[in-house]
Amino acid sequence: MVRVYQSWLLDFLLSSLRDGSSSIQSRKLSITGHGYSLRDIQGAITVGVMVDVLQLWDILSDVVLQPEREDKHIWRFSSSGQYSAKAAYEGFFLGATLFAPWERIWKTWAPPKCRFFMWLVAHNKCWTSDRLARRGLPCPDGCPLCDQEQETINHLLVQCVFAREFWFILLRQVGLQALSPQPTENSFLDWWERASNATSSLVRQGVNSLIILGAWILWNHRNRCVFDGAAPSVAGALVVAGEERRLWTTAGARGLSLLSAHLPGD
Ligand SMILES: [Zn+2]
Repeated sequence: MVRVYQSWLLDFLLSSLRDGSSSIQSRKLSITGHGYSLRDIQGAITVGVMVDVLQLWDILSDVVLQPEREDKHIWRFSSSGQYSAKAAYEGFFLGATLFAPWERIWKTWAPPKCRFFMWLVAHNKCWTSDRLARRGLPCPDGCPLCDQEQETINHLLVQCVFAREFWFILLRQVGLQALSPQPTENSFLDWWERASNATSSLVRQGVNSLIILGAWILWNHRNRCVFDGAAPSVAGALVVAGEERRLWTTAGARGLSLLSAHLPGD
């Protein structure tokens, strides 16, 4: 808690007051006994000025001055009461909400465009048909991959029968089919978090890369169906995923290499 006394408080509050009002050049408060009185207010007494004065009066009303004590400034963001740059910096983040999947998105090896795509997914900013429909824009009637449900990003990436078959085969290629999304799964991010946490630290980076890769392939396959009239094909998507995985591995995705190293005959 900040505890301030006497002239330091007055100077501070008055300078704040002055900065916030252009109608007054200078104002002073003088202390009489245990209370305060206004003196020497220069400039026009506008409604704004009166509001400022009343607010200041209100703030000061609970302050009991102790003339024999020195001013003391206590920095409330540190337990010691002493200011430090570290405590000030940490104070910026008080009340901030944590973006849970940031580490999986930004610390995983994947091309920047794919990580940015995942960031869009996490914020539900992909132009799936539900989002297009909300804005009155032309959109596919149903999911372009299964034509059974309305398309949302969670449907497209984990709920769709097409997506679930795709994930099962993709993960089975590295012996991790147990991580595949179940029919009851309704959130891609929740599934990703569980799948990632269910793996050992040794393969977690590779699994995270593979999941980003799979989501990217599903999104691009969906776009080819919507914009190029391509027919949905799990086998076709898996072929592209395999090519992409080899390219990522060649480009330096070590976690993915580690998964691939366990592949029989890969
Ligand atoms: Zn679908």
